[in-house]
Amino acid sequence: MATAIDWHAEAAKLSFRSQAFINGKYVPAASGKTYDNVSPVDGKVLAKVASCDREDVDRAVKAARAAFNAGKWAEAAPKQRKRTLQKFADLIAKHADELALLETLDMGKPIMFAKGVDVMSVVDHVRWFAEAIDKVYDEIAPTGKDALGMITREPLGVVGAVVPWNFPLLMAAWKFAPALAAGNSVILKPAEQSPLSAIRVAELAMEAGIPEGVFNVVPGFGETAGQALGRHMDVDAIAFTGSTEVGKFFLKYSGESNMKIVSLECGGKTPNIVFADAANMDAAAMGAASGIFFNSGQVCVASSRLLVEEKIHDDFVEKVKAISAAFHPGDPLDVNTRMGSMVDKSQMDRALSYVEKGQKEGAKLIAGGRQVRQNSGGFYVEPTIFDKVANDMTIAQEEIFGPVLSTITFRDTEEAIRIANDTIYGLQACLWTNDLTKAHRVARALRAGTVNINNTDGGGVEVPFGGYKQSGFGRDKSLHALDKYTQLKTTYIKLA
Ligand code: NAD
Repeated sequence: MATAIDWHAEAAKLSFRSQAFINGKYVPAASGKTYDNVSPVDGKVLAKVASCDREDVDRAVKAARAAFNAGKWAEAAPKQRKRTLQKFADLIAKHADELALLETLDMGKPIMFAKGVDVMSVVDHVRWFAEAIDKVYDEIAPTGKDALGMITREPLGVVGAVVPWNFPLLMAAWKFAPALAAGNSVILKPAEQSPLSAIRVAELAMEAGIPEGVFNVVPGFGETAGQALGRHMDVDAIAFTGSTEVGKFFLKYSGESNMKIVSLECGGKTPNIVFADAANMDAAAMGAASGIFFNSGQVCVASSRLLVEEKIHDDFVEKVKAISAAFHPGDPLDVNTRMGSMVDKSQMDRALSYVEKGQKEGAKLIAGGRQVRQNSGGFYVEPTIFDKVANDMTIAQEEIFGPVLSTITFRDTEEAIRIANDTIYGLQACLWTNDLTKAHRVARALRAGTVNINNTDGGGVEVPFGGYKQSGFGRDKSLHALDKYTQLKTTYIKLA
């Protein structure tokens, strides 16, 4: 679709699935309760969405367990699961426009990214794990000739996936693609702010041939549906992406229920270190700007701390500031828009409150800092840049999850490493230099699950992703993701 007008016309034609998807059917919440799903694009209600709670989660778990025990999916040959998941990926690709629109309307990201980044990456993830699953071999232990030690992978059973709103379907796919490929039944709890794409995709899963009960969606709030899943005695694992605060709740829920396996992808405060010997300052400046303003800064790996070597500071910060103008918020349904709205009013207010805190603590606001496009009825914040930030200021320590960049100056490599690691988080770090030895030495010293050299990109499904420290544990993406969704069984046979 070429113009903004086309996307608006498509949006006007959309109807929304808004119920839970349990055992192959759309159903209302057992309580009959719904909640208003507001679009941050214009502040209007998109749909009344089922507000699931314990009873709904329990129904979903029973359906998922029955499907798992029946074995139609769990015991299907990997090749068969592969074919079904390939069909699923094809259907997602076929409905890319519709799913992209759901993402844009539900959480405010530009349509061009919703389609080109989010939905296309979802297709990529489902295809990749479909393709991988009939190529993963089990192991034989080196026991000697008198025994046979077989080490086999088995699906866990019922997996709960609890995900955030910043990449609604993509964060879900990071979980459901490997979990389904491995043979599990899945119960997906989307974020209350952005449930529409998850609810819709369940239908496509069924159409692709995933048996009923294997893929379920329970929309609702964290304290109700999320907690019920976390505390359920018959859920084998929770794969969570969200804030560090809520990640810790899931550890507690597990400890207070059935000791289910928990994997956590939580917050971040990415340092982006620009050394004076970086080969291409324009590319570094573009990386610095897009690293924080993409998705309105609502990205766990947003490069929110820009560490600039003192001698290039003035020129470099000027470059980033000039580029930031291109991210001025626009209509998310316009293909030329590079930054849309924040996900909701509370997230906008949160970002603006940090702008205030930064100024109070003595940082220098050099760009943005205000709400814009008020007439739209939506929640838009300008690309915002602070200079003269000290790493112990609140804006440099806390995850803002908004388009707010903190610039910090350093004098030498040791200082850069010290500042970069001075955070409770360890999800990602970036550095720009043309010195190969320095690049490797600094990468080794950085305490982060991903270190990007001369980019802020992080790579696709083929590389693992996850955190050090309070950014969580466990890895999404790549074959390592299968570790989260399988048990290792040892079968030890005496041959003597
Ligand atoms: P959040 O932690 O508030 O919510 C995440 C999910 O948990 C939602 O589905 C929510 O309904 C549920 N939840 C909330 N409270 C709950 C509770 N008491 N019990 C059970 N479930 C509960 O996070 P958010 O605001 O949706 O997303 C932003 C956060 O997600 C940021 O901290 C960001 O860094 C993080 N994130 C991390 C990654 C990663 O891969 N590491 C990726 C994207 C987002």
